[in-house]
Amino acid sequence: MTTPENTTIGFVGLGHMGGPMAANLVKAGYKVLGFDLAPAALEQATKDGATVVTSSDEAAAAADVVITMLPSGKHVIDLYNGGLLASAKPGTLFIDSSTIDVADAKTANELAVAAGHRAVDAPVSGGVAGAAAGTLAFMVGGSEADFESAKPLLDVMGAKVVHCGGAGVGQAAKICNNMVLGISMIAISEAFVLGEKLGLTNQAFFDVASNASGQCWSLTTYCPVPGPVPTSPANKDYQPGFATALMHKDLGLAANALRANGVDGLLGLHAEEIYNRFKQESGGGLDFSAIVTDIRKRSEGA
Ligand code: NAD
Repeated sequence: MTTPENTTIGFVGLGHMGGPMAANLVKAGYKVLGFDLAPAALEQATKDGATVVTSSDEAAAAADVVITMLPSGKHVIDLYNGGLLASAKPGTLFIDSSTIDVADAKTANELAVAAGHRAVDAPVSGGVAGAAAGTLAFMVGGSEADFESAKPLLDVMGAKVVHCGGAGVGQAAKICNNMVLGISMIAISEAFVLGEKLGLTNQAFFDVASNASGQCWSLTTYCPVPGPVPTSPANKDYQPGFATALMHKDLGLAANALRANGVDGLLGLHAEEIYNRFKQESGGGLDFSAIVTDIRKRSEGA
């Protein structure tokens, strides 16, 4: 059983997500050995009560569980190969919560197991607000036994923890969900802009579609036009929320998986191109629902 009394956690990657996740583990009574390359992240971790160490290998060497929250699969694999696995005690549980390629997640699991450790992929949704509040959703891939060992820690950092299947399948759940989200936001945005051209007000379209077969999260919770859903980023000049650059990253992972598995996923592939173009032109910092402004702009004068 994983408890604060018997478990020391090495936490590598204390950025926007990892920082507050580590802070919640400290609050729950766990000893957290934190490491990040950015001095500002280490400073914040110290304030949050973590014990800052001088390298990721040092964190791994003294830990029972190592959690990584890093930008990409390359970061994870490079760290695993670069000494993290070799430094850890045999049987250490590695939890990677970064959003990475399914293939990289499988490779990371194989590397950890080959080095005599245990491993799960446990990507999250819920964003920075969910990380701070401890209400993330975790999608977990790995064996039943490793899932059970990881679960008490994931319960501290999240409100919903789902065991999705074997190694890499947590990442599969994450990218499949976000592919639906990216496509549905484009669909809802195209419908709003078409409605505007046809003399249909945004509110009237919302009132109809939110109670009809067009209903979806992108419309009723995260409405991309200001007005109908006062809490959506559209009412705050599209401040994220979930930034366009992050949506594009996840669609890129989905596109890789579609291609690698021979899936005829025309909309998923196209959504990646649409968000890539919007990211290049906007800088990627706006909420992804701002795609509606791009569609409207491209439809001007037509
Ligand atoms: P971030 O860039 O804020 O944090 C990543 C941290 O990793 C940085 O502080 C960086 O210095 C550190 N880092 C990089 N290489 C390192 C190394 N070798 N050793 C130690 N530290 C290293 O990113 P984030 O927003 O916290 O996202 C982390 C992961 O979570 C990403 O995979 C992202 O896709 C995923 N994610 C983010 C969100 C979100 O809303 N931000 C939501 C869900 C999932």
